[in-house]
Amino acid sequence: MLYIILWVALSVLVALYALARGHSYINVLGFLLLALVFSPLIALLAAALIPPSETSLIDKGLAKKCPHCAELVKPEADVCSHCGRDLMAASAS
Ligand SMILES: [Zn+2]
Repeated sequence: MLYIILWVALSVLVALYALARGHSYINVLGFLLLALVFSPLIALLAAALIPPSETSLIDKGLAKKCPHCAELVKPEADVCSHCGRDLMAASAS
């Protein structure tokens, strides 16, 4: 019984980790099912190795797309870390 509780708790932790990493809700559900059915360890590896989709990161406000080079940058960034251009001027105009 304790084993089952631990298994479910670890599975939920893996799902929370995937959510914090910026995965979409449908993917988080997938990782949760993977953890419950197979192993929380396998799901943790999958959640860590599979990068979250660009649209999911933008939807959750974890990233924004540079209007100059279309690369993802942090939402607080004033200057693009990829092309070095000013992001403040782009959003103001
Ligand atoms: Zn850029």
